[in-house]
Amino acid sequence: INSFFQPVQQLVQLYTQYQQGKAAIGKIRGLLSSEPSVVPGTRVLPPVEGEIVFDGVTFGYLPDRPVLQGVDLRIAPGETVACVGPTGAGKSTLAKLVTRFYDPSSGKITIDGYDLRDVTLDSLRRQIGVVPQEPFLFAGTLRDNIAFAGPSATDEEVWAAVDAVGLRDLVERSPEGLDTPLHERGQSVSSGERQLLALARAFLASPRVVVLDEATSSLDLRSELRVEAALDALLEGRTAILVAHRLSTAMRADRIIVVDDHRIIESGSHTELVAAGGAYAAMFETWAAHSH
Ligand code: ATP
Repeated sequence: INSFFQPVQQLVQLYTQYQQGKAAIGKIRGLLSSEPSVVPGTRVLPPVEGEIVFDGVTFGYLPDRPVLQGVDLRIAPGETVACVGPTGAGKSTLAKLVTRFYDPSSGKITIDGYDLRDVTLDSLRRQIGVVPQEPFLFAGTLRDNIAFAGPSATDEEVWAAVDAVGLRDLVERSPEGLDTPLHERGQSVSSGERQLLALARAFLASPRVVVLDEATSSLDLRSELRVEAALDALLEGRTAILVAHRLSTAMRADRIIVVDDHRIIESGSHTELVAAGGAYAAMFETWAAHSH
């Protein structure tokens, strides 16, 4: 029996290797050829309420490899939706589509009924604030870093953002207050403070919609609580999509979607999804068992 199966097994192995090689070449080609090129629309997006709708959205970085397939999702104005799911499932991709980093290969995404493809990138991005996983800080003062999107912000506006995210003590401890220069690349601030500064920056810009890719760096409990409180302040009253790497963050959202297998496989509040006993409930059980 072995003498029959061995060659078959080898063939299967060879074929798998061949497929993997092909995929790798495709991936490299994709990386080389694709600075994402979206064609901006011409309409200026008027001030929005912040309703985001995915209508049958399919997208992949490479033509034969869908990352998202036929995704339908409606986010109501003011609603916070957290995306959870395994690594590589497409959570960040979903978020990037909202900021029009890429366009769906089929289906469409609308904001207040406007197809993202029809509006200017400038008018879109002014109403959608992005907080990346690794927020950048630059050489400049605390004020420069916070008022990045609105350099003409008044002191009152900057302080309001500082207070909203609970950074008053950091500013007051700094020798020149808001005018204290940050070391280049912000080595002089902790990872938690860096996240708070990024949240202050988004708060000051005051967009209707926030797309936030949660930092993965682990924080001590006190910093984590501060970041969570700042997040609550930022997201209050805005539409938000959170790529949540911590279930403790996801739990605070109005709704959680589980992205896996190119689709949204579950959608509901924390309580609903735990009661449903599916993928989210399993993730939560594992998390709860390890964190207490
Ligand atoms: P994580 O939790 O690890 O951040 P994720 O769910 O956010 O994962 P994505 O970053 O959206 O996943 O990636 C989805 C898939 O798309 C992965 O297989 C990833 O390798 C692939 N991918 C992501 N960005 C690119 C890109 N620029 N070019 C090609 N493939 C990409």
